[in-house]
Amino acid sequence: GSMEPKGSKLLLQELLTAAGNDACADCGNPEPDWASLTLGVFICQACSLLHRSIPHISRVKSVQDEWEDSELMAAGGNNAAKAKYEQKVPAFYYRPKHTDCKLLREQWIRAKYERNEFEFIEKQEPYSAGYREGFLWKRGRDNGQFLSRKFVLTEREGALKYYNKQDAREPKAVMKVETLNATFQPAKIGNPCGLQITYLKDNSTRNIFVYHSDAKEMVDWFNAIRAARFHYLQVAFPGAGDEELVPKLTRNFMKEGFMEKTGPKVCEGGQVCTPSARRLCRLYFDAYARGEVFIGSKENSYTVLAGLPPSTQGHHWNHGITIVTPDRKFLFACETEAEQRDWISAFQRVINRPMRPQEYAGERDT
Ligand SMILES: [Zn+2]
Repeated sequence: GSMEPKGSKLLLQELLTAAGNDACADCGNPEPDWASLTLGVFICQACSLLHRSIPHISRVKSVQDEWEDSELMAAGGNNAAKAKYEQKVPAFYYRPKHTDCKLLREQWIRAKYERNEFEFIEKQEPYSAGYREGFLWKRGRDNGQFLSRKFVLTEREGALKYYNKQDAREPKAVMKVETLNATFQPAKIGNPCGLQITYLKDNSTRNIFVYHSDAKEMVDWFNAIRAARFHYLQVAFPGAGDEELVPKLTRNFMKEGFMEKTGPKVCEGGQVCTPSARRLCRLYFDAYARGEVFIGSKENSYTVLAGLPPSTQGHHWNHGITIVTPDRKFLFACETEAEQRDWISAFQRVINRPMRPQEYAGERDT
């Protein structure tokens, strides 16, 4: 007797449960319910919207729809696509997750499928050459206006520099690769390509806010900074593997928002606070972190408590947080209970993590 042909619905279910197809090919989100017929990958709905912006490369279809047999044959699956489109992704290159900003996710998709950057390494020169220069719009410190500034990133000097005047010999700022961080902050900067660059100067945190009107250019800058950090860390930590170094390249802030700082008869409302790594920065102005609290680990007698000591004065927000360090207490107040809970959980995550030897150098309050 002849075998009954399997229904296309059943074949599609088999495909979806095959190895590699249980997570979005582009952002790793579980249970993808869309596919790119032309690329043969299973993707999440958010990524399918980005695929629609490259219709000459990718034609998408929901897995809920009826599939033709020929379409099923074309779905090679995520592992096969990865072997082709991601064969030469540099270790430092940022692979976006579902929660990352649209800019990073869209440029990752375009880099893979439209520009084929990870099949031909010569296409990676903008971020892998060890040197990059160009103009970025930089937010002015005083009036908040964006001005075009020349930026130079040089791995040889281990620095990112920018110049106020095009013919200036001396850079306005030299940011050491060693302390550099970059994180996309589109909402905060008010531009889809907005990048916040943080660095240490004279042992305090400084921030600059930049963007480029071209999305690829901005993501290339971001990955060039990651490449420079990667090569710096390879020298600083000889013998450390990629899996140890890559999480150190750039980091997102754990939490950001407003807390009041309270103290004896003083109230300084409305600062932006960013505990990233082990620094809680109180930002009085956008560009300067004036005063930072170092957050150590519980083994080193750091604690975070809900509430404020009874004698505390001068705050009008009701939801207090006390950060206990070996030397003193820092008092903050949040506007809502939810904010208080979020902040405490962010601090606790930092405090629960044992300190690494190199972090002791940062143990210092300013
Ligand atoms: Zn996705």
